[in-house]
Amino acid sequence: MEKNNVPSAENPEKLLHLKATGPKKIAAGIPAVVAALSDVMEEGIPFRGTGALFVMNQKGGFDCPSCAWPDPDDDRSIVGEYCENGAKALAEEATSKKVTAEFFAQNSVIDLANLTDFEIGKKGRLAEPMYMPKGGTHYQPISWDDAFKKIADHLNALESPHEAVFYTSGRTSNETSFLYQLFAKEFGTNNMPDCSNMCHETSGTALSSTIGIGKGTVTLNDFYDTDVIVIIGHNPGTNAPRMMSALEKGKKNGAKIIAINPLPEAGLMGFKNPQEIGGVLGNGVQLADLYLPVKINGDMALLKAIEILLHEAEQKTPGKVFDQQFIADKTVGYHEFIEHLKGHDIESLAVDAGVSVELLREAAAMLSHKHRIIVCWGMGLTQQPNGVDMLREIVNLVLLKGSIGKPGAGLCPVRGHSNVQGNRTMMINEKPTQKQLDRLKEVFGFEPPREHGYDVVNAIRAMHARKAKVFFAMGGNFLSATPDTLFTAEALRRQRLTVHVSTKLNRSHLVHGEEALILPTLSRSDKDIVNGEAQFISTENSMGVVQSSKGILQPVSDKLINETHIVCRMAIATLGSRSVIDWNRYANNYDDIRNIIEQCIPGFENYNVRVREKGGFYLPNAARDGKFITDEFIDRAPFTINKVPVTILADDEYMMATTRTHDQFNTTIYGLEDRYRGIKNERRVIFMNQKDMDKAGFASGEKVDLFNFNDGIERVARLFVVVPYPVPERNTVTYFPETNVLISVNNVVGESNMPAAKYVKIKIRKHVQPVAAV
Ligand code: SF4
Repeated sequence: MEKNNVPSAENPEKLLHLKATGPKKIAAGIPAVVAALSDVMEEGIPFRGTGALFVMNQKGGFDCPSCAWPDPDDDRSIVGEYCENGAKALAEEATSKKVTAEFFAQNSVIDLANLTDFEIGKKGRLAEPMYMPKGGTHYQPISWDDAFKKIADHLNALESPHEAVFYTSGRTSNETSFLYQLFAKEFGTNNMPDCSNMCHETSGTALSSTIGIGKGTVTLNDFYDTDVIVIIGHNPGTNAPRMMSALEKGKKNGAKIIAINPLPEAGLMGFKNPQEIGGVLGNGVQLADLYLPVKINGDMALLKAIEILLHEAEQKTPGKVFDQQFIADKTVGYHEFIEHLKGHDIESLAVDAGVSVELLREAAAMLSHKHRIIVCWGMGLTQQPNGVDMLREIVNLVLLKGSIGKPGAGLCPVRGHSNVQGNRTMMINEKPTQKQLDRLKEVFGFEPPREHGYDVVNAIRAMHARKAKVFFAMGGNFLSATPDTLFTAEALRRQRLTVHVSTKLNRSHLVHGEEALILPTLSRSDKDIVNGEAQFISTENSMGVVQSSKGILQPVSDKLINETHIVCRMAIATLGSRSVIDWNRYANNYDDIRNIIEQCIPGFENYNVRVREKGGFYLPNAARDGKFITDEFIDRAPFTINKVPVTILADDEYMMATTRTHDQFNTTIYGLEDRYRGIKNERRVIFMNQKDMDKAGFASGEKVDLFNFNDGIERVARLFVVVPYPVPERNTVTYFPETNVLISVNNVVGESNMPAAKYVKIKIRKHVQPVAAV
């Protein structure tokens, strides 16, 4: 194994003792409660951690740093408005363990890089700013003033502002995001890749062009009063666990649930509500009424098959299945769309979907006479190469049914990171609109750059080609989140300076540019005191609710600086008298930041007053109100014609989708279990269909190497363990970031340019120990 600052996500020499017991049928319950509390105990913070848990997601408390699932509008549970994953996220950031200058003096970057991501994450909170000099082996302490001077010197030495890249992770608050994009624009670039470029860019692209807004249209209350909830390409049990409470409540009120996914995830099947005694002790609730085990990338065929069956039913009972009034009043292109549907036959669509005609008929029957339908989706769709088309097809389905713009109906992209939607609203976007830029010019009086910047994939390419030379990350773990790990690692190494604003140590600090800075910052749960006054920040959840978040914990070190301060001090150091913006003012008072947000972004009228109301406020959403205003049409949503994709695999090829474990949030690894899938003590596993294993001659527990050959390059991920699992034939599933190394930077989603991490062609061979280099 390489002994430089290895970009591989885990160390394959450390294969532990895998136990695989197969998928579970029910999520949460007592094991979730135990897991939530044991993480808090393991971090050695029984009082600090549990006290904070009771404030997390409560009105006036702080927002969970993990996913973007909304909190109830009405009263919140006094037992706690958090899930197991929220508790784990809190335990990680509330830990009292610290990574200090002494720690870095004792551990070289190469030593640290040989730890697993799990081990790196367990080192604790970063306690002071650190600097890696050119040619250095160890990070060393640096003062904040010197750190900002280094950033300024590097940025000002660039030949063009477009040689800098400013990345944002979805944890960043509205206030910081607004200032950060303002700084990048005043500096002169729209190179603002963000984690949306890896999760729901596809949703934004499809929804903006059809319903006129790149966000979902439902509220939490819609789940409680609906007829059918369709969950497609999403695993609520792990990715947004409190969504299961909403599904349970919807079911109790009579809703049916259709789950569509290549894996029979426990969180789709059943739920024991850990917030209710009956839920913990009882048998739980069966969630999915119907499960469709779609093939990877078979969703388009599946959706079209359902639409054809609905059309047949509509012809038998005109006006009862489709909402003809809605179609006439609110849409365009219906007749062309129906003609297009007629060009398909149900049997071949069933084959392409990998789902029997009988199951498809059952799904269509559940939808046919219902019009209050919610469709939810996750990255199982958005990370497919034709994900934009698939989401437009979902829009087609809800338009046929008139299931949008009314209570109990609509679209629900389930967002990953807690403020990823808010970042976009705050103009963290490599493609800001001309209208947004005009407004900034009016308010601030500088000319913002008009050309589009780099998204994540294009930023990696530009850094690799040395067209970008300074990489600044506001949060996140860029290397582990992105595809083509070796290529991306090289891109980072080719930077003159890499800067990471972080709460904890991660792999991206260890694969760095010629010089590197780690700037430690406050976490969501930390108290943020500015000039003696406690400040709060605000975030926007998946359903467009903006609310305040105020941390309560004493920070682990007095050398941490909040993110807004970091942006302001970087701006002052870099732009100096060139700036027309009073950065000192914004560094000292977040109300002033909210006042300028209000001036620049529609929907934030009276921001400082409304954000102080308990539970916050909803942003305007015309599509939620049944108004579809796109670039092309006023008050009409277009039906779109989307092709069924064709996947051709050679005899020895398989399709691989990456996913995360239940002990993981994005790139943060909390532990080595994937409880709902019955995996213990190991992450380097590949789930395979038993028939495929038999054909390939792989036994359960076989050690294999995985290969990808996109662009004529051999990419390899060594030493994985085969686990038999009920996935469709020729489909396999592995965990990221371990297999990101197999995903070509050129394997992207059409139009949204997101990495297509759910559609990776691989070959699987019995493991061979590589010959050590001499
Ligand atoms: S559902 Fe998401 S936001 Fe809510 S507590 Fe769990 S991880 Fe946090």
